[in-house]
Amino acid sequence: MDLIIGAGISGLSYANFCGHDDYLIIEKDSSIGGYCKTIKKAGFTWDYSGHFFHFRNQEIKDYILAEMDRDDILEITKMTQIRYKNRYIDFPFQKNIHQLSKKEFIECLYDLFSERNPDFSNFKEMVTAKFGKSIAEKFLIPYNEKLYATDTNLLDVNAMGRFFPYADKEEIIKNFRKPDSDSYNSFFAYPRGGAIEYVNSLYKRIIQEKLTLNEGLLHIDLKNKVAKTSKREIKFDHLISTVPFPILLDLCDISYNKDFYSWNKVLVFNIGFNKKGKDTVNHWVYFPEKKYSFYRVGYYDNIFNTDKLSIYVELGINKDQHADPKDYFERVLYDLKIAGIIDDHKIVAYSSVIMDPAYVHIKLESEKDKSEKMADLAKHDIYSIGRYGEWIYCSIEDNIISAKTLVSKILQ
Ligand SMILES: Cc1cc2nc3c(=O)[nH]c(=O)nc-3n(C[C@H](O)[C@H](O)[C@H](O)COP(=O)(O)OP(=O)(O)OC[C@H]3O[C@@H](n4cnc5c(N)ncnc54)[C@H](O)[C@@H]3O)c2cc1C
Repeated sequence: MDLIIGAGISGLSYANFCGHDDYLIIEKDSSIGGYCKTIKKAGFTWDYSGHFFHFRNQEIKDYILAEMDRDDILEITKMTQIRYKNRYIDFPFQKNIHQLSKKEFIECLYDLFSERNPDFSNFKEMVTAKFGKSIAEKFLIPYNEKLYATDTNLLDVNAMGRFFPYADKEEIIKNFRKPDSDSYNSFFAYPRGGAIEYVNSLYKRIIQEKLTLNEGLLHIDLKNKVAKTSKREIKFDHLISTVPFPILLDLCDISYNKDFYSWNKVLVFNIGFNKKGKDTVNHWVYFPEKKYSFYRVGYYDNIFNTDKLSIYVELGINKDQHADPKDYFERVLYDLKIAGIIDDHKIVAYSSVIMDPAYVHIKLESEKDKSEKMADLAKHDIYSIGRYGEWIYCSIEDNIISAKTLVSKILQ
């Protein structure tokens, strides 16, 4: 029997693809979806945080969409900008320095073409080596330090993997004349019913009696292959976990160096107002400056094309720092005003969510420790998948692919 821990995208994907019906999914929460849940309030539709989908794999896309009404999926041409010193410049910053003031443009250009140390061993050094001091210090370092809530010299060079928008000097210069697809013509898909629609598409194809809610995994007896849950003891052949990797190690009584694993929390406010705001084009905007408490604000009303401002506001918070939403809300509203996002708007509805963990800090030591521990767990037929199970930066499409790959591995 395959025991699947967690009914988020990864756990449900594994059940979809395992090819047999001898499985059980346990989920500690009272509903399915993990971080892909959707909140509906007073006519507003919000996700836990902005969740937009860039399917790259046609097979996965077709599989997910097969159980959905295609008319209910919006295909959007992405529009994103950066709010920098009271002006908006297009994203990514490094390709749009020509939109800065003349003085700052020259600083960025000068540093981009200056000799510098080509060696780097962490994220902060990498962005300085690749783009020069000015681009690094005006955007890449402050933005990512707000997002990750950590010093960027503690992050690995590849902390963001393929999600980091690299650009060489030639691409940067070409972009001054003719913006390329990375900044303008890329699309994303979004279901009218929110991210939970993707989850529901996977849920429809599992044996629903084989999923139990409100049942948390508490301990794993590696030797006897028995999982103790909040309700019972379950003997398994394979255990597929989607819980955050360090927590899985705790559940298995495996000791590890806690300093290797760190992450941020993201506090999200979803707020619906009584009227439209000034920004009617952007889908989300990046805020690198410290004077704003948030690092990103997204506009659902510009995605759904509706007439009332509906936003998500994201704050990066260190894992050891408190994140009580009520201590941040007034400040967020103040910052929305100084950013010109709201003026005399009235709040119609709001909700807050704390995503903990949200972005894991990928470091050399966590990567090494993780591979060793995963290999040991596999000897006990325990596999850890998903964004937090694999302790990576990834999208839901990656989660689905990873679950499928694990099925082939176990079958072999
Ligand atoms: C701020 C933010 C924005 C994002 N935006 C996007 C985006 O735009 N596009 C995109 O594709 N992806 C996005 N993602 C990533 C996406 O949310 C994840 O890749 C995906 O939701 C992970 O699914 P999962 O099933 O691996 O993990 P989760 O969603 O975390 O699911 C794990 C499940 O396991 C359950 N669980 C945990 N512990 C136990 C236990 N002990 N016992 C039983 N059950 C347990 C949890 O309750 C949960 O339901 C974003 C992530 C964040 C943080």
